[in-house]
Amino acid sequence: MKKSSYPGYEAIRRKGWLAAHKWLLLRRLSQLSIMALFLVGPLLGVWIITGNLNSSLTLETLPLTDPYLILQSLAAGHIPQGTAIIGGLIVALFYFVVGGRAFCSWVCPVNLLTDLAFRLREKLGLRSATSLPRYTRYLMLLATMVIAFVSGGIAWELVNPVSMFHRGIIFGTGLAWLILLAIFLFDLFVSRRGWCGHLCPVGAFYSLLGTHSLLRVRADARARCDDCMDCYLVCPEQQVLRPALKGADTSPVINSPNCTNCGRCIDVCALDVFQFGIRFDRSDSSRSSPNQAASPSTGV
Ligand code: SF4
Ligand code: SF4
Repeated sequence: MKKSSYPGYEAIRRKGWLAAHKWLLLRRLSQLSIMALFLVGPLLGVWIITGNLNSSLTLETLPLTDPYLILQSLAAGHIPQGTAIIGGLIVALFYFVVGGRAFCSWVCPVNLLTDLAFRLREKLGLRSATSLPRYTRYLMLLATMVIAFVSGGIAWELVNPVSMFHRGIIFGTGLAWLILLAIFLFDLFVSRRGWCGHLCPVGAFYSLLGTHSLLRVRADARARCDDCMDCYLVCPEQQVLRPALKGADTSPVINSPNCTNCGRCIDVCALDVFQFGIRFDRSDSSRSSPNQAASPSTGV
């Protein structure tokens, strides 16, 4: 039963504000710290990391490269340098283990913007003008690869909002802010979680990368669920929750590669149904849950 008009109210009441925002605060810290590490070089001359989210060198030693960029480069017919390939393998291995879309919620700066648009549209009570299929992002991903192949260049990077965010802050380029403003307005007025949840090819790529990731959110205590719906209301990928939370004979592990491991469902659940864990199943006492027959109508 719903206990308040905003999701997380009951969690705050029971656990305290800090505990009910733990993962949200940690990932904001992560996103802002990563951005700061990139910015202290060009802005203050303190070069801990050189480069950007596409390709960087930490402490003049550790190369990190976006594996999606490497794939586009290969599709365009260019063989990246050895250091870039090593950097790409390191990043790919990391997200292969922790979940590809952890990039979205823990690293990508655009997520700050789209989360803000989501909060605002919820506050204003706006409804979606259109509902795009979520697979559209995979078509976008395919399109970027085909364009790279046909054009012989990485055209997507000219308009990639993830890179644009970085460029916008450092160089203040107008096009960057225009693209980001368009995404913000699209998410605010046109489609709920429109960009990150339906269109972004970067998120689509990282979801594929994390298909078999080890780190997962688990609903081991799903027997406690009282259908308050708070997790559904805050989750950026609502469709991933139901099988783990309400599947009578399915695993309590959220196995969808589109779960962003943001931990918001853990934060807002007053009954501590969710936790981070690994994908392999433990014995699941929750299958005898009296609540499992009642599935919330999520509209997703
Ligand atoms: S979906 Fe795209 S823009 Fe959104 S957080 Fe992920 S990579 Fe960033
Ligand atoms: S299921 Fe939880 S961790 Fe995964 S995206 Fe939704 S709110 Fe975030």
